[in-house]
Amino acid sequence: MTTDFDFTGKTALITGAASGIGAATAQWLDAHGIGRLILVDMDRPGLDALALGCDVLRVGGDVADSALWSIGLRDSGSIDCALLNAGVSDGFAIVDGDLARWRKLMAVNLDGVFLGLRHSLRAMRGRGGSVVVTASASAFKAEPGTSAYAASKAAVVQLAKVAAREGAEHGIRVNAIAPGGVDTPIWDDVPFFTDMVAKAGSREAAIAELGRMATPLGRYATADEIAGQIGFLLSDLSANMTGAVLRSDGGYSL
Ligand code: NAD
Repeated sequence: MTTDFDFTGKTALITGAASGIGAATAQWLDAHGIGRLILVDMDRPGLDALALGCDVLRVGGDVADSALWSIGLRDSGSIDCALLNAGVSDGFAIVDGDLARWRKLMAVNLDGVFLGLRHSLRAMRGRGGSVVVTASASAFKAEPGTSAYAASKAAVVQLAKVAAREGAEHGIRVNAIAPGGVDTPIWDDVPFFTDMVAKAGSREAAIAELGRMATPLGRYATADEIAGQIGFLLSDLSANMTGAVLRSDGGYSL
């Protein structure tokens, strides 16, 4: 019987690994015995800055670029786990919407996950594996100004479910995590958040204020908390789960 998070001898692929949830998951898997990490991010210096004890392959590139998958990761070897997590946020009202901004967000958040799923399902055939995609509570909760982001994350949820159906006969599980607010750098370029930081006096105070405003539990998550939940989904402790969506949002989407 499996009694623990045991990743000994396994290899995990993580996209968006240089920062936030992706970086925290790399650290979590490293602390739980993973043998090898394949870390992908556009921010190559950010990948280089991660201190990890396991064997690590760091690949700079854009998840929306099919060449990353066909050439950059061609010789990266087999994988047992994957976290398809790279994502960007953007906010605009539909009436003000700009097609180029819509397409840019969809390219990263949706095309990137599609390409990552294709790569992972191919790499796991014949050996099985576990994939987690990072969706968002925005997939379920409609808020003004979130059209592209929310639509991309709702699509990611359904994509994960289809992948779960297609992967099941090959012993491959695919689940989604849907965080609400998480304290990561993704907020730092969001105009209403920079206004809140200015008013609240610090970034920490602004995050605390957002948590109080937006969630029944009155808090935002840390990246480390979300990483532990992703670790559970990647591990054999969730061996009977596939096509599930783990909402971790302090009750925001209720
Ligand atoms: P983050 O900005 O800290 O990390 C995102 C990482 O993705 C960065 O390192 C960035 O360089 C990388 N990235 C962006 N576009 C890329 C591309 N085209 N190719 C390769 N790498 C790329 O943000 P985070 O909060 O850790 O976000 C991780 C995921 O979690 C995203 O999919 C995001 O939508 C989702 N999410 C975040 C929150 C939150 O409140 N922070 C809530 C729900 C969902």
